[in-house]
Amino acid sequence: MRNIPSVAERKEVLKKLLRNVIIHEEEILDALHKDFKKPRFEGVISETAYIISDLKNTIKSLDSWAKPKRVLPSLLNFPSSDYIYSEPYGKVLIIGPWNYPFQLAFSPLIAAIAAGNSVTLKPSELTPYTSALISKIVRETFDVKQALCVTGDHTIAQDLLQKRWDYIFFTGSVPVGKIVAKAAAENLTPVTLELGGKNPCIIDETANLPLAAKRIVWGKFFNGGQTCIAPDYLLVHYRVKKKLIKHLIEEIENALGENPKESEDLARIVNLKNWRRQISLIENQNIIYGGEHDEETLYLAPTLVDEPFLESTLMQEEIFGPILPIRSYEHRDEIAKTVNKYEKPLSLYIFSENKTFIKEVLEKYSFGGGCVNDTLIHFANKRLPFGGVGHSGIGAYHGKLGFDTFSHKKAVVKRPNRIDIPLRYAPYKGKLKMIKRILNWI
Ligand code: NAD
Repeated sequence: MRNIPSVAERKEVLKKLLRNVIIHEEEILDALHKDFKKPRFEGVISETAYIISDLKNTIKSLDSWAKPKRVLPSLLNFPSSDYIYSEPYGKVLIIGPWNYPFQLAFSPLIAAIAAGNSVTLKPSELTPYTSALISKIVRETFDVKQALCVTGDHTIAQDLLQKRWDYIFFTGSVPVGKIVAKAAAENLTPVTLELGGKNPCIIDETANLPLAAKRIVWGKFFNGGQTCIAPDYLLVHYRVKKKLIKHLIEEIENALGENPKESEDLARIVNLKNWRRQISLIENQNIIYGGEHDEETLYLAPTLVDEPFLESTLMQEEIFGPILPIRSYEHRDEIAKTVNKYEKPLSLYIFSENKTFIKEVLEKYSFGGGCVNDTLIHFANKRLPFGGVGHSGIGAYHGKLGFDTFSHKKAVVKRPNRIDIPLRYAPYKGKLKMIKRILNWI
């Protein structure tokens, strides 16, 4: 017999987690700042307040999520009452990335605990201050049988992947996602893979350019550009490109001033390796704005690159930093040529007032999620699934879907013994016509 925590016990421990997150909120924001100078405002909205709201919603909704759901019975089974039971998978491994280190460790953990699982959490080694605090909060909140945090580098994750789990939830890069999927396949362990990709942002000639620029600049440079759903590159109609660039520059300066290095509102690149990679991406490119950098403080200014070649590394790999390539198009088939060159992206954004064009883009391209006339904000609605498709990920979570992700859905048909219609039993002779008629009804 498995020892599954009751819904009341799960709610109790989630309430304890909520208290501890609130108690440690200032320390968390300090740790994020020490790790990569994450601005306090961004830390609150994308990490601590996000998790507090996630916890409150989960605690409030858990009774109804966890209840067996009655569904309409099938005529073939008449009479019966049919249910979907949500049962925990069991032992869950969660491996987190560094870019939203607090949120992307705790959000899946909350869903897994709510669904009644036990969790082993491995946060990223690249944000050591935040990971140490995550570990402390887990220790203060959970019994080791409920949840455990293991800190360390990728070798720790590799060791963990050798063990047998009932579910693995991974957030990180595509290459490591493949390693996780291979390890999971050994034991046929179900996985959720939250990965990345090159997210297009399309701006046509009807777009509201000043507002588009404001929303693109916010979405691109939030977290220093280190966001899995950030617009990776722009595809702008050639007739409005010049104007859009003018507005982009205005908006960067409105947000971060003429010297963003002095702004408190721009996060830094997380480490030297990633910083060097960013700098190499802009070498030999046509930089039309920004480009200033400083190795000591791991700073790279918000940078606009004009018409990079599709063959350049900048246009081959996910950027994951404050560099925004701008490519123009004249005909719509050029958009298709570029977008279809890549694997299916995690996000896609379109800025336009043309309803037909918007419909065409939404239907034509496959992507994890996205926005019309905005960036990033689809992430914030807990009623929307969050996840990728193809190489940008497998599965999704957020809100109730997070609870469902970590629950096996068990089908149960309950039959009374007072009636037993003999139609399905042999001898079958003379029964086929009636069975076919019933099958036609249902
Ligand atoms: P990463 O894949 O390098 O690391 C993620 C985690 O995997 C870390 O905990 C790390 O220790 C572990 N890891 C690294 N190498 C490993 C290996 N060989 N075997 C097992 N585990 C290993 O990713 P990252 O640099 O932390 O994050 C950036 C990437 O994550 C980007 O590609 C971004 O798009 C993606 N991302 C996706 C989402 C999403 O929700 N879809 C969110 C954030 C980041």
